[in-house]
Amino acid sequence: MDTLNEVLKFNEQFVENKEYVPYETSGLPDKKVVILSCMDTRLVELLPRAMNLKNGDVKIVKNAGAVVSHPFDSIMRSLLIAVYELQAEEVWVIGHHDCGNGKVKPDQLIHKMEEQVTEEVVASLKHVGIDLHSWLEGFKTVYDGVSDSVATIQNHPLLPKNTPVHGLVIDPATGKLERVTK
Ligand SMILES: [Zn+2]
Repeated sequence: MDTLNEVLKFNEQFVENKEYVPYETSGLPDKKVVILSCMDTRLVELLPRAMNLKNGDVKIVKNAGAVVSHPFDSIMRSLLIAVYELQAEEVWVIGHHDCGNGKVKPDQLIHKMEEQVTEEVVASLKHVGIDLHSWLEGFKTVYDGVSDSVATIQNHPLLPKNTPVHGLVIDPATGKLERVTK
């Protein structure tokens, strides 16, 4: 049985047995916080457990590296919607050690893409002004990534003044948090 079918089969039982009841909550974050973190598999359960976060406590936005790559990207849009429409009053950026985003090698990745979708397709993007190299590039260290994203959010012209924006790094093995910005 493939993975999706397994999940759908489990889901029928989950709903039938009313296993959702302990998770009932509203769409608004009780702790008034929106978190930006990384899509790393080790953080799926560890991050909320290590922070004692329950369903309903916070909004969590995730991508590769917990980075805001552009002030008007979809991550920043989500953070602003959380603040303006969903009662989040602070933003926490939580990167992690051993993050794959620090290991991305754009040249190698572009080569793999060329093998899959042909060199012509990749070259055609260059012709319309898309700089794949800088788009794919990761951060040098997780501390740089978190600090840069915190700065982008903090200096965003649309973020309400005095919104606290904090930067942290989590250990994906132990869950230990380290504060990297004030
Ligand atoms: Zn990561």
